[in-house]
Amino acid sequence: VQARRTACKYTLYKGTEDRESTRRLELMSELRSAIDQNELLLYCQPKVSIRSGEICGAEALVRWQHPQHGMIATGEFIALAEHAGLIMPLTRWVLEAAFRQSYAWYEKGIKRPLSVNLSAQDLRDPRLIDRISGLFATWALPPELVQFELTESALMEDPAGALETLDRLKELGVELFIDDFGIGYSSLSYLQKLPVDSLKIDHSFVTSMLTNSGSAVIVHSTVELGHNLGLGVVAEGVESEALWNRLQELGCDTAQGHFVGRPIPTAQFDDWEAQSPWSHPTPGGGAALH
Ligand code: C2E
Ligand code: MG
Ligand code: MG
Ligand code: MG
Repeated sequence: VQARRTACKYTLYKGTEDRESTRRLELMSELRSAIDQNELLLYCQPKVSIRSGEICGAEALVRWQHPQHGMIATGEFIALAEHAGLIMPLTRWVLEAAFRQSYAWYEKGIKRPLSVNLSAQDLRDPRLIDRISGLFATWALPPELVQFELTESALMEDPAGALETLDRLKELGVELFIDDFGIGYSSLSYLQKLPVDSLKIDHSFVTSMLTNSGSAVIVHSTVELGHNLGLGVVAEGVESEALWNRLQELGCDTAQGHFVGRPIPTAQFDDWEAQSPWSHPTPGGGAALH
């Protein structure tokens, strides 16, 4: 009986595995044409200054609207793209879309920095810097309007190479964020060498900071570490007013998360903003809340 159970479990397991990997293979081969056929969409999520309660930037987040499967989870297809060597065409698409949006704001007189996520593979792309500086030239945008986010884990795949690319990005005059900070394995001495402007505390620590004392200590210490190194600190995953209030007490600079605003299609951002409490901040910032 035991043997039969094991065999049965194995078959079941293998069945789902196969379906999963077939789906992944299919998606991988479809991703390339998705990039060319404009099945990708650019969403933006607002970032709000905790001090002033004002929108102080946005993050560009890519979405894949698959004609049959609907919206594919971003984490899933970014991982696929990394696997399939498709990050570079994906990043090229995101950069084009982000510069177009950034220019649209700039033209309206809205000086709102938009940050773009880069992967480990982008950091190894020898043409990345030329492509980015070419886009700044084409759109005649000041360098402070497009920023870049790099995860701590991506940096650690090749710490020395990443440092070089970051130095070259800084020469363009752009601002850099370390994303998902706290879940990677960078040492403090490496961190201190990085030419970055801000840390983004990973959402896993932020969302649990009111119920988990370990997370609370990590958030508190990261705010202090960032500030002591002269860096700005952004909290991701700010899902409630209680979290906002706690982060305000801790002196965290910027909040991003569902409480502030969900990612929305770029074309809807201005309408969202017009009716958002964050576009009419009251003194004290937190008081602008719903
Ligand atoms: P990320 O850069 O850390 O982006 C933040 C993620 O947290 C986004 O997931 C966002 O939708 C989600 N989020 C926003 N507010 C909240 C909240 O209040 N609570 C929680 N739990 N989550 C929240 P998304 O859009 O699914 O993207 C996942 C990851 O995929 C991103 O994490 C980023 O690493 C990567 N990614 C997204 N767009 C791009 C891109 O254009 N290029 C590259 N290379 N990576 C991208
Ligand atoms: Mg990010
Ligand atoms: Mg992040
Ligand atoms: Mg994250």
